[in-house]
Amino acid sequence: MAREDYEVVIGLEVHCELSTKTKIFCSCSAEFGGEPNTHCCPICMAMPGTLPVLNEKVVEYAVKAGLATNCTIEKNSKNDRKNYFYPDLPKSYQISQFDKPLCYDGYVNIETEDGEKRIRIERIHIEEDAGKLNHDEYGRGTFVDLNRAGVPLIEIVSKPDLRSAEEVEKYLRKLKSIFEDIEVSDCKMEQGSLRADVNVSVRKKGSKEFGTRTETKNMNSFRSIVREIEYEAERQIEELEAGNTITQETLRWDDISGRTFTMRDKEDAEDYRYFPEPDLVSIQVSDEYIENIRKSLPELPESRKKRYLSEYKLTEKAANFVVSSKYYSNLFEEATKICNNPKTVGNMIMSDVARILNEREEEPEDLKFTGKELGELVILIDKGTISSAIAKKVLQELFNEVKMPSEIIEEKGWVQISDEGAIKEVVVKILENNPQSIADYKAGKDKALGFLVGQAMKETKGKANPQLLNKLFLEELNK
Ligand code: ADP
Ligand code: MG
Ligand code: ZN
Repeated sequence: MAREDYEVVIGLEVHCELSTKTKIFCSCSAEFGGEPNTHCCPICMAMPGTLPVLNEKVVEYAVKAGLATNCTIEKNSKNDRKNYFYPDLPKSYQISQFDKPLCYDGYVNIETEDGEKRIRIERIHIEEDAGKLNHDEYGRGTFVDLNRAGVPLIEIVSKPDLRSAEEVEKYLRKLKSIFEDIEVSDCKMEQGSLRADVNVSVRKKGSKEFGTRTETKNMNSFRSIVREIEYEAERQIEELEAGNTITQETLRWDDISGRTFTMRDKEDAEDYRYFPEPDLVSIQVSDEYIENIRKSLPELPESRKKRYLSEYKLTEKAANFVVSSKYYSNLFEEATKICNNPKTVGNMIMSDVARILNEREEEPEDLKFTGKELGELVILIDKGTISSAIAKKVLQELFNEVKMPSEIIEEKGWVQISDEGAIKEVVVKILENNPQSIADYKAGKDKALGFLVGQAMKETKGKANPQLLNKLFLEELNK
């Protein structure tokens, strides 16, 4: 059978660090980083006799996340102990939620080529993060840093509804943009605030049953997640085609070699001996509490998209793209307010801004310039001060140093030449040097005009006003 005869099935367990000021069970700072073991106290270091106290903000943030992803909120939930040993987990258990997660039965929609697709969310529960192990590069050993121990997390478990790496990326970007909007997490993947365990299986198309899955832990970049899924699906198909079976196992992705390695197998045999956390009371939330949070939710990507379609007349494609990130949306709205040209702003974000970010391997949140600069840039195009070709160069400059575009074009001498006399001189010169093109044009080869305009653009380093150039060439050629 061929690759096309198989279908890839993916389900994600996404961990998202909440941006509360303090940790989930103590009053230590939950901020990222810091000198090792400076955000610690007897509770998060697991000293005997200490007791956890649940941070109310964690419940509030998790309920917000649940409502924003269409979940039902469990009004009577609780915490459970998940027992396992690891050196970054000083209690030898993680306080999580087992059979009564705070939120369940939700979904988010993603845009696919065949229209909107619903990805179901099985549950969202709260839990504590573990510490970090730092392996010393001089081989002196491994150091434990407990700053992260007890930082609050929500875990979002999807149903196995995803069918390609592309869908997975869209789903993750959707979650990220929702959580950024409701301000429950900074979602910085490179700092581990948003990371995913990726479950992949394959099955023959048309088959009703799922294949055996593998789970790759702690993936924290879109690029590696996409690569991992493509690699893993290919590997599983090859195994099946060779007549082998897939082992259910936990894998580790190696970005350098671009392949997965076995971390541990027989995942199902792992017994966490969950039991209700005896040191914490149950979590009771009232209807009123839930409704108050529901009312406080800000505009979410889906309604923002509707507004962009009606208010700004963006195309479906541009609207989808801009709402894919809160940072794009802010950039778009601020720039549009300044230049009143939503179409150009939307297109610039979708094509040029996205392309440059991609080249720099950066994400929308890494953008340093704002709508103030982008708005002015679009005004300069609209006024004819610069051509759109020069605008692309200005944009590139904005990624290196934030300055007003008018300053950049002044310094670089990029102002568009719109003086008819000056352009005419160029036109005459180019025509003198290209008699063949004139003959071609007269013989009906319209392409010759494009060539001549191109030469004139080269001569003026892209600064000539293209409409004027066209007009003057036509005038001369038709004389
Ligand atoms: P656990 O990892 O704790 O055993 P589950 O069995 O509930 O938990 O599954 C965890 C994740 O794996 C979920 O996101 C689910 O969608 C996904 N998943 C389950 N079965 C498959 C499968 N056959 N192929 C791909 N993903 C799967
Ligand atoms: Mg799992
Ligand atoms: Zn603490």
